[in-house]
Amino acid sequence: MRFEGKVAIVTGAGSGIGRATANRFASEGARVCLVDVNEDGLQGSLPEGDHMILTCDVSDETQVEGVVKAVMDKWGRIDAVANNAGIACTKEAIMDNDMAVWPKVLGVNLIGVANFIKHAGRVMCDQGSGAIVNTASVAGIRSGAGGNAYSASKAGVINLTQTAACDLGGFNVRVNAVCPGLIETGMTKPIFDIARDKGKEEKLGSRCELRRYGRPEEIAAAICFLASDDASYITGQALPVDGGNTAS
Ligand code: NAD
Repeated sequence: MRFEGKVAIVTGAGSGIGRATANRFASEGARVCLVDVNEDGLQGSLPEGDHMILTCDVSDETQVEGVVKAVMDKWGRIDAVANNAGIACTKEAIMDNDMAVWPKVLGVNLIGVANFIKHAGRVMCDQGSGAIVNTASVAGIRSGAGGNAYSASKAGVINLTQTAACDLGGFNVRVNAVCPGLIETGMTKPIFDIARDKGKEEKLGSRCELRRYGRPEEIAAAICFLASDDASYITGQALPVDGGNTAS
């Protein structure tokens, strides 16, 4: 039970990777605050036990500050934060971009992460301990045609992870990122639906060395590893969890 007596916040916990991460933290003994903008999703994610759900738009600093305060009021400490909330955008050439998408995507995917690092990070610095794990993406390591705001936001998360690791390291607070490859979740449902309609589901896994797409639980396992004392000497890193997609 790596998180016995510990408190974890998981954003984007109403679905997919965040839901799996909240469950993994809970199954290893943590008290978990599940955060999402989608109240219905949160209700469906809540594990049994001493946990809480809070509706919050991570791109809004005031709301994030409210989450951190609520967790401190209830449990008095924050040991781990999984900054996982994210949104996708359509893949298209930058010449065709609706530029209104950029502030939305950067607001959730990048500024949302910064908001939690700032406010939960302050608590962790005062405690003298803590671990933050940000969900970036392989798209933040190497983009491709049409990556636009999403890829840029995830590259920003990787860079922010390094910056924050430097700022918080002196307080014994670690900051890392995971970079998932293709995982079946609500976000990728349209891709999976189209592939299945065409009878081409296996093709979805063909872009990585393990020749299959991933499961949310496989990302949750990596997030919880980086959040745990098993990773006590790891900070400022971005770990691909992608079946070898970025290996070649
Ligand atoms: P998902 O859509 O199933 O879950 C994302 C969750 O984030 C949703 O519950 C959504 O309501 C929540 N969310 C969206 N905007 C929010 C906001 N402003 N405030 C709070 N919550 C908000 O998708 P997922 O695949 O589980 O995505 C989780 C993370 O993993 C994202 O950051 C995503 O970019 C990243 N990721 C996913 C894949 C993949 O293949 N699924 C690959 C690489 C990275």
